[in-house]
Amino acid sequence: MSSTNDHESLKSRLTSLTRDMILIASTESRPEERTRCFEFLRHHLDATEGLRLDSYERNGHQSLVVRPHGCDSPDVLLCGHLDVIEHSEPDGYHSHVEDGRIYGPGSGDMKGQIAIMVELMRALHRHHPGASVGLAVTSDEERGGADGVRFLVDDVGLRCGVAIIPDGGSLCDITVEEKGVIHARITQAGREAHGARPWLGENAIERLMLRLTRLGNHFATYWPSEPIDEQVNHWFPTCSITLCETENTTVNRIPSRASAVVDIRFPPPHDVASMLEEVTEILGPGCTLETLMTAEPTHLAPDPLFSEATKEITGKDVAMVRASGGSDGRFFRDHGIPVNLSRPLVGNLHSIDEWIDIESMVTYYRICKRYITNRLSLDR
Ligand SMILES: [Zn+2]
Repeated sequence: MSSTNDHESLKSRLTSLTRDMILIASTESRPEERTRCFEFLRHHLDATEGLRLDSYERNGHQSLVVRPHGCDSPDVLLCGHLDVIEHSEPDGYHSHVEDGRIYGPGSGDMKGQIAIMVELMRALHRHHPGASVGLAVTSDEERGGADGVRFLVDDVGLRCGVAIIPDGGSLCDITVEEKGVIHARITQAGREAHGARPWLGENAIERLMLRLTRLGNHFATYWPSEPIDEQVNHWFPTCSITLCETENTTVNRIPSRASAVVDIRFPPPHDVASMLEEVTEILGPGCTLETLMTAEPTHLAPDPLFSEATKEITGKDVAMVRASGGSDGRFFRDHGIPVNLSRPLVGNLHSIDEWIDIESMVTYYRICKRYITNRLSLDR
């Protein structure tokens, strides 16, 4: 086969694998669809000789780990998640190809990347049986990764020399740092009263609003005066109010309780402890702050060989970038495992017209293949 044919057949295999997976609505509310997606992956992988497929489960979230026989801790671990976010249109889980892109929910986050990793596993283990390369696929990244990568690494004891997670950065942008995260609920108590006689009560919503305004004003002091440009001046702490609730359902009753959820992101030198202290002080006494999820800012320590392979394949300079969002990479970093975080060209993530660029999928496949063959000294 000529190399043009190789290129075209790889493109079409990656495209159909991705589009087949998009049809499976593997969201949080559909456990049976997530199971079906794992079955689909198994069928694509179990024909490759010499591979062992292990399934794990925690709190209804399945994971699949694929390794060569006799290899518990592969040197290179490809890692992804098959869960996609929920869409309001229940029959929106299909795709179309236009302008060299696959459009559809989960195409770029990250079923297209899973297709690439499955193809890589099959090709590498066919040509280099026993190569120290594994694959881990989880199903709870969009809700924090506690039952997926965290469980595999902390509880099952999965280890590797380096993890490749194609869920951040871009083709020539390798993520080196991620902000820390605090998801917390702020609850304010008050005293119920009739809406016509506010002097008899204490309005929980109004008291909470004052605290949230103080919090907003405080975080505004970190905000640069120039318009924000990613990679230029985005590296500062932020606080977003994402939920605001009261149990009150009556128009003329002053509520006795109100709560809000905040999503706080912060770079070093801040850490979870210092940030919580800061927030507690600004909120002041008389309300409670309950953390729902926390993560320290993470340095990913990518392998320099990965950026070399990226440069070799693309012929372009590689940028080391800082991400406002987090990834499953932090769970590997807790055990000192380096993480290579870049990905094909993607866009409109988490919307119905999410896309992944097909040509860049082939390029990303080649980058990973080059990196793995270099790192493991396999012949090309
Ligand atoms: Zn993702």
